[in-house]
Amino acid sequence: MTLLALNNIEVVYDSVFLAVKGVSIEVPEGGLVALLGANGAGKSTILKSISGLLKPERGAVSHGQITFEGTDILALDPPERVRRGLVHVLEGRRVFEHLTPEENLLAATSMHGDRSEVAGLVEQMFQLFPRLAERNKSKAGYLSGGEQQMLAIGRALMTKPKLILLDEPSLGLAPFLVDEIFDTIRRINAEQNTAVLLVEQNAVAALDVAQSAYLIEQGRIVMSGTADVLKSNPDIQQAYLGGG
Ligand code: ATP
Repeated sequence: MTLLALNNIEVVYDSVFLAVKGVSIEVPEGGLVALLGANGAGKSTILKSISGLLKPERGAVSHGQITFEGTDILALDPPERVRRGLVHVLEGRRVFEHLTPEENLLAATSMHGDRSEVAGLVEQMFQLFPRLAERNKSKAGYLSGGEQQMLAIGRALMTKPKLILLDEPSLGLAPFLVDEIFDTIRRINAEQNTAVLLVEQNAVAALDVAQSAYLIEQGRIVMSGTADVLKSNPDIQQAYLGGG
């Protein structure tokens, strides 16, 4: 069944710049879908329109339809979208630097959940990211880039999402950590049955974990299909997979 559906979404910045031009995307329940494309193609803008983080006061306007579990969510504010099970991990590692990993995780749930449930969730996150448990005496600001990225994902998972939007989780990480992050994404999808919409410039790794993918160029979807079909497409190989 379809969990998230974008239907003909357009985003205009500052009344003039059409950054997203009629994009339609579907994420099935429990699916792992990649959104690929070069810098500036419009990937982050699409994720922000899904989570509600576009800023109308800064001139961003979106049109079209976004349904989540069959309900139109475009008019809902971001916290309400989180309550419904839709969470966004923004690009860059945004953690509370002066808090420990556990305090960061707890900060994501202060409004809801009973204590034993919250403790259970923290335990689950430490199992998913053992490295965070090992570093739990440190403030998050002292963690490595990869550890901070894991913490940012862990915080999002504390809200028990049905769908997690991940914006460039591998950006700026050392190669061995890139592998670890992609492995974790695969596990979040497979073991927790959380659907994932993954924005990545690392097309090789993204197509390895995703079931299907969309390719965006200058605000438009120019190709979509199963990950295997996209991987074997000569144009994709040429442009994104290092010539195949
Ligand atoms: P990146 O990987 O660099 O984040 P992206 O594919 O995610 O690229 P977006 O960040 O969505 O691309 O940007 C799409 C286009 O919209 C770019 O041309 C960008 O300059 C423009 N843009 C993004 N945010 C704003 C904004 N707040 N105001 C005006 N233009 C913006």
